[in-house]
Amino acid sequence: MGSITLKNVQKHFGEAKVIPSVDLEIKEGEFVVFVGPSGSGKSTLLRLIAGLEDLTGGTITIDGKDVTEAAPAARGLAMVFQSYALYPHMSVRKNIAFPLKMAKMEQSAIDKKVEAAAKVLNLTDYLERRPSQLSGGQRQRVAIGRAIVREPSAFLFDEPLSNLDAALRGTMRLEISDLHNQLKTTMIYVTHDQIEAMTMADKIVVLNRGNIEQVGSPMELYLTPRNLFVAGFIGSPR
Ligand code: ADP
Ligand code: MG
Repeated sequence: MGSITLKNVQKHFGEAKVIPSVDLEIKEGEFVVFVGPSGSGKSTLLRLIAGLEDLTGGTITIDGKDVTEAAPAARGLAMVFQSYALYPHMSVRKNIAFPLKMAKMEQSAIDKKVEAAAKVLNLTDYLERRPSQLSGGQRQRVAIGRAIVREPSAFLFDEPLSNLDAALRGTMRLEISDLHNQLKTTMIYVTHDQIEAMTMADKIVVLNRGNIEQVGSPMELYLTPRNLFVAGFIGSPR
């Protein structure tokens, strides 16, 4: 579960060829980081995978099934956004349970799933609190919890830590990596932060003007950058 293939994926906005053509293979369970400067097409590529944008051309396959035309909800993916939109009037428990409630799952099954997610995220002691009574990091974890209970085949993160201060970013990086180790679910993580890319990724995808400059492990990119852009961006002394 969670293998994703992009073939000749293109996205134009009017005259602007924001994604000229991308081919990419994401394996089951991989932690993949899309990195690149602002405007390089990271969010657009993620939104195409999520189904939040229509493709101009090409195909997207998830677990062998062509989802190019499939609605976002039919793709089995969970998107975690930068601004965690929690319901302020609901407890943490109800926030996390919300997608399951919507799916009309039975209450006892909901409780089980919410408690399991809370355990993974160290939120067990906070389930009856309101979002306003939580720290920024805890709120971020609630947003992730809401994704976990849906048991997606992959998690998509778009700069989830960019609103947090530097110290908290470091902690959350470790927590998300730990989450990946526990769940072993495919994760695609968008960032413009080279340190996040280098420390979290199994595989880094370097984007520049909507094109993939290089795909490889952090070590491969560091030791054998394909060109000056990658070398400069990853910061290897070449
Ligand atoms: P990143 O996430 O890497 O910062 P984006 O994917 O948000 O980059 O944007 C890539 C390019 O596509 C930018 O030049 C941006 O202005 C353009 N773009 C993104 N969304 C739209 C849109 N809805 N309409 C027009 N242009 C867009
Ligand atoms: Mg973006």
